[in-house]
Parts: sequence; C-alpha cells; structure tokens
Amino acid sequence: MTTPVYQNFIHGQFVPNQSKETFAVKNPATDEVIYHVEVADESIQEKAIASAREGFTAWSAMAPIERSRILNKAVYLLRERNDELAKIEVLDTGKPIQEADCVDIQTGADVIEYFAGLAPTQVGTQQPVANDFFYTRKEPLGICAGIGAWNYPLQIACWKSGPALAAGNVLIFKPSEETPLGAIKLAEIFIEAGMPAGVFNVVQGAAEVGQWLTTHTEIEKVSFTGEVGTGKKVMQSAASNLKDVTMELGGKSPLIVFDDADITEAVSAAMLGNFYTQGEICTNCTRVYVHKSVYTQFINQLKARTEANIIAGDPLDPNVNLGALISKKHQDLVLGYIEKGKAEGATLLTGGHALSPESAPNGYFVAPTIFTDCTEDMTIVKEEIFGPVMSVLVFEDEADVIARANNTELGLGAGVFSQNIQRAHRVIHQLKAGICWINSYGNSPAEMPVGGYKQSGIGRENGIETLNSYTQTKSVYVGMSQIESPF
Ligand code: NDP
Repeated sequence: MTTPVYQNFIHGQFVPNQSKETFAVKNPATDEVIYHVEVADESIQEKAIASAREGFTAWSAMAPIERSRILNKAVYLLRERNDELAKIEVLDTGKPIQEADCVDIQTGADVIEYFAGLAPTQVGTQQPVANDFFYTRKEPLGICAGIGAWNYPLQIACWKSGPALAAGNVLIFKPSEETPLGAIKLAEIFIEAGMPAGVFNVVQGAAEVGQWLTTHTEIEKVSFTGEVGTGKKVMQSAASNLKDVTMELGGKSPLIVFDDADITEAVSAAMLGNFYTQGEICTNCTRVYVHKSVYTQFINQLKARTEANIIAGDPLDPNVNLGALISKKHQDLVLGYIEKGKAEGATLLTGGHALSPESAPNGYFVAPTIFTDCTEDMTIVKEEIFGPVMSVLVFEDEADVIARANNTELGLGAGVFSQNIQRAHRVIHQLKAGICWINSYGNSPAEMPVGGYKQSGIGRENGIETLNSYTQTKSVYVGMSQIESPF
C-alpha cells in the first residue's frame, strides 16, 4: 500500500520541492511508516520568505478586530474538527486518544481564542512633555519563526501562532520531523477561516531547516520549544542579526509533599506529573520530595495505584491511558536512564522495563517506573529523561528541601502539597521556577504565563505579556511649539 506524501504548505497551498527529498513518519505505537513529507529545500525556503513578506503586508494592515474575527473562525473550526485532529496527533505521537481528545486541540484552540480576544485591546500611551507631547504605538515585529517539539505538535503550533498573529505578525512554523502533520492541518484551517495567504506557512525538515530559520536576516524573532542544548544553538544563530527569542526548554521539576498534605491528592499529582503523555511533558515533576513522616504511606499508595490503574496498549483505544514513546531511539534512551538508576543504587519500586502490550506489540512502550532511595548525585535525579520515570526522595526540614529542590540548572516547574497556606506560599516563593502549582499540578490555562527560570527558558508563552513580546514600541514625538535652535 502506498502512503501519502505531504508537501510544504506555502502561501495557502501545498508546494512541491525541487530536490525531491522526503522523510518518513512512523506511528510510534505500531513502528509502521504512515506517510512521507517533502523536505523544505532552498526553493521552498525562498518561496516561504517571499510569501511571508506578502502576507505581512496584508495582515498587518488589517484592523486588529478583523484579525480577531479570522482567528476566532479558526478556533471554531479547530473545535469542530477536534476528533479528526486528535486522531492525527495520536498516530503521530503515540499518546492516548483519551488525552488528545480533550487536551491537545482544545488547549490549542483556547490559546488562539484568548489572543484573538486580546488583539483589539492593544493600546499605546500619550504623554505631554512641556508644550509638546509624544505617543507610543505597539507595532508587530514582522516575519517570525516558530520551531516546535514533538510532544504536543498541534498545541505548540497554536501556542506560537495565537499571540504572533494576533499582534499582526506572520509566522513560518517548522514542526518536529517526528510529528509534522498537525501544523499542516492548522495551516489549512487558517486559510479556510479567511486568513490571507502567507500569514502562516509550514516548512518541513530536521535541524538544517531549523537552522535556516534561525539565521535568515528577514526573520525578526524565533520562538523555540525543545531541548536546552538545541535552545542554546538556536540562540547563538539568532544572534547573527540580533533576533528576538523565546525559549521554552526542558525541566527537572520538584514536587514537595509536606507531612500535612492530602496524600491521595499528592499521589494523583505525582502520577499525572510523571505518567501523563507517557512522561513526555516538559513541566513534569520528576523529582518527588516526600516528608519522612508520610513517606511510607505515600509510596505504598503510589505503588498500588500505579500497578493497578495503568492501561498500556493501542493509543486509539479510549480505555488506554499509557501510550508509546515517540521513537525507538527515545525508548532506548529512557531505558538507558533506567539502567543507570539501577546501577547507581536507586531502588526500583515498580516498572523499569519496556512493555509490549497485546493490542500494540511493536510500539515503543516503557512501563511507568518509580525509583525510591534516590539521592541528588544520581543521573536520574539530575537529568531530564522525558519518559515515565519518577524519582522519589525523602526530606525532613523545610529549608533543606527548598535548597535541594533549587539545586539544579533548570527551573521550569515546581509544586507544593500542604494544607498550611502560609507554608505553601512561603515555599513556592523561594523555589526558582517559572510555573508553580500549590495542591495541583500541570494545569496550564491560556490566561497563565508559562516559561522557565535559569536554563529552562527565556520569555513566556500565554498570558498578556506574551502578546507584548510579539510587538515593538514606536515612540512618536510631536512638536507643538517653535523649535529652539542655536543655528
Ligand atoms: P529538540 O531540541 O531535539 O528539537 C526541537 C525542534 O528543534 C525540532 O523541531 C527540531 O527539529 C529542531 N532543531 C533541532 N536542531 C536544531 C537547530 N540546530 N536549529 C534549529 N532547530 C533545530 O527537542 P525535542 O523535539 O526532542 O523535544 C523534547 C524537548 O522539548 C524536551 O527537552 C522538553 O523538555 C522540551 N519541551 C519544552 C517545552 C516547554 O514549553 N518548556 C514543551 C515541550 C517540550 P527535528 O526534531 O525535526 O530534528
């Protein structure tokens, strides 16, 4: 059976490349190639820029409320096609349909809707200075680039296009080579919603295509989601013409469970923050610090619920709640970390191996894995694994656990479970992380800014400040009095 071949989506249509170079995309749950995609060669890259230039002229001239209407139409189409789009995400990523159905498309649509609402609210200032005055205008940056990771492909494309387009910019988006289809579907929806051609172009390929975006002199900003190491390379290239950057990078986030916590809720949070999307979430609380006095109770419940409630299998089965990892390479990487955990002296509480479920025997599954007796010098406690691997650590003293939680170069998320509101806030305020939760974990509504401290990132996504980051301020000084000149 022949599989479909998708071309790059430029100026409102699919455009063939000249090199004929393609890459294959596999379904992680079956190990089968499901389609091919043409690489954005030089001819495509040139067309993408020319199209974006034209798109910017049309889009930035529109009244913000007109842009808002078009974005809202796209939101309507995204929600109307939720099931079809969710299925595409499941086949590309290996995640369970029970997640994609209610999270991926909906949270993407929410963000576009949020920024569509904000588009017409952008205002400048006016201020008198002596007899003259000046005013400011919020103007778009121009052509922006988005580069996405593979864990939430369509959602990432929405999170980057929502604020960029609402502010009047145009976006050239490169999805991950592992998950290229969701962004194409979004591009089609934007055109159907009435967006001018060239406002949202999708280019396909691996690092070389990403590098081209980060070095092209006409691109004003790069919004990147991916690993810390790649983020550093992107920033370095972006410096070539002083592009603005937003960096959404990796994490090794702590969850601190105090002795007065609701243990059932804390276990729910730890499981969600390690096993949802088979552990492939940047904010995951992979270092779980539990107070000594509730430690036994916590790990007994954690082990029992993990062993009883995880259903791995065909991700299209709505009962399945653990999907396949993105690739064989990534599965091997995660299993390698598990071996390191064992070798470095952590105790395996449960899991610790690959899975081959009956309904998806060839998928890249890893059993939910929990290590106890962990210490801060272990590789599994120090490095981001991006799979279903939780490290549990014990603490007794508040100041000590804060210091240990902060002892990392990363600072994406952090969580605290305690019924003592003063302690909960006091501790959260001392944690060096950009996205924090008290008696909750993982929720990320459109209204809430998200981003990392330290090496977990620069800038924010979502929330009002993100719209501002896609604008530049122009000051206009107006002379009302005669110029005083010595000449
Ligand atoms: P990578 O850094 O490997 O890739 C991210 C994107 O960058 C991909 O589209 C990739 O292309 C592209 N790319 C690779 N090299 C370059 C380069 N030199 N220049 C420009 N672009 C390049 O990340 P993953 O896709 O493996 O995603 C997992 C990582 O993403 C984890 O560290 C995770 O924590 C992080 N992440 C962070 C989030 C956040 O909001 N903070 C959210 C989600 C994930 P290709 O893959 O096609 O080669």
